[in-house]
Amino acid sequence: MNASDSIILLRQHLIDPEICIRCNTCEETCPVDAITHDSRNYVVDADKCNGCEACVSPCPTGSIDHWHVVPKTQAYSLQEQFGWDELPPQQAAPLETPDAIRPSGNALPGEMPAAPSASSSTHAPWSAAHPYLNLYSLKEPVTATVAGNFRLTAEDAESDIRHLVLDFGTQFFPLLEGQSIGIIAPGTDAAGKPHYLRMYSVASPRDGEREGYNNLSLTVKRVVQDHEGNAVRGVASNYLCDLQKGDTVQVSGPFGANYLMPNHANAHLLMICTGTGSAPMRAMTEHRRRQTAKAQAQSGKLMLFFGARKPEELPYFGPLRKLPQEFIDIHLAFSRVPDQPRAWVQDKIREAGPAVSQLLREDTYIYICGLKGMETGVMEALRDICKEAGMDWPSLHQQMVKQGRFHVETY
Ligand SMILES: Cc1cc2nc3c(=O)[nH]c(=O)nc-3n(C[C@H](O)[C@H](O)[C@H](O)COP(=O)(O)OP(=O)(O)OC[C@H]3O[C@@H](n4cnc5c(N)ncnc54)[C@H](O)[C@@H]3O)c2cc1C
Ligand code: SF4
Ligand code: SF4
Repeated sequence: MNASDSIILLRQHLIDPEICIRCNTCEETCPVDAITHDSRNYVVDADKCNGCEACVSPCPTGSIDHWHVVPKTQAYSLQEQFGWDELPPQQAAPLETPDAIRPSGNALPGEMPAAPSASSSTHAPWSAAHPYLNLYSLKEPVTATVAGNFRLTAEDAESDIRHLVLDFGTQFFPLLEGQSIGIIAPGTDAAGKPHYLRMYSVASPRDGEREGYNNLSLTVKRVVQDHEGNAVRGVASNYLCDLQKGDTVQVSGPFGANYLMPNHANAHLLMICTGTGSAPMRAMTEHRRRQTAKAQAQSGKLMLFFGARKPEELPYFGPLRKLPQEFIDIHLAFSRVPDQPRAWVQDKIREAGPAVSQLLREDTYIYICGLKGMETGVMEALRDICKEAGMDWPSLHQQMVKQGRFHVETY
């Protein structure tokens, strides 16, 4: 066979639109801007993607990990991918022997750039328990029953944040602190298509919201404004917030293989969150509290920075204040309390600088969760307090990322 008869095959990188939750993580991760999106789908540009797989591990759902072998001349275009409701079946292999199978894009494996230096760990702490993943899908979800739905924020607070308890009865749904579940809101979107999954972090520890029960809790904020402040009715959050005890919900998951807590007893946890970003922090704190209550020695410290507009808007404010200082060192930041200077989590991190830098010298795991906008300020605060303490944050940060000790989940 001469070269002109051969077919160049492409290992085309594709995203499963049925599972993808449109969290934008992959688009942010891709070093060559191969990922893009429209109002409905996230897609990969075959001309740009070089198969480096930097996006695979950070994707919380696994929807990004699809590779179809196609003749290069028949690669799926962006327009085709934007129109998909589900992945097309893998095409039959061409009859001729392929001349070359290349990753998406033009680079050969030897030419692939190294994955970019990530800003968040793409693997779990070494001592994390092994998570179960993707047991239930959009097509084959599991049904949970609402066991409770309580408002966490004060009745007159601007934000309606709720604590929702879902019961799985006798169905297999194992979870770890830091994992998320996918909620399938009933009905269809404006285009008449089923709603895509929305992710919610689990707020309860691994042995259940009520210890020994097969249930979990979520911390859900009712979305009534978009990120620009325009009035909008968020599909899944309003559905969840309006559920009554006894209602049933379609759930997929569990998701999340990285944002997990260490299980060794001397690991310190530095937790930084805003609003519903408190969900995984509540789960991890409660797991440690239960271990301590059972006299399982825990020498690791817990330190929490938690931001909200006002105390009335802070989920779990009451229970948090009951936890003893020797168990958890809590720093609350309020940005809209009348007659008080406005403070954000990064201000509180700076105020506690010496204690934070001391923790950073030790076996500490950092967890950041909440609004995307918090990331820059938090990183700057960590950089500044490290500088003050004679430490180099950029190199420490990269070391922590590599060691599975620096985890960010913002949305
Ligand atoms: C890994 C992960 C974990 C998450 N955990 C939680 C959690 O524990 N609790 C929780 O409440 N949410 C959580 N979210 C966000 C959640 O998945 C939904 O995005 C959110 O509830 C809005 O969904 P919706 O269907 O109500 O709004 P949509 O109908 O999807 O969106 C309506 C409009 O509001 C905008 N919008 C979406 N979310 C927000 C927001 N939070 N604030 C302002 N505008 C918004 C959208 O851009 C859109 O314009 C998490 C997201 C991810 C990726
Ligand atoms: S495999 Fe690499 S190049 Fe391709 S989309 Fe993912 S991050 Fe981008
Ligand atoms: S779920 Fe995965 S594929 Fe979808 S936007 Fe998020 S990271 Fe990308």
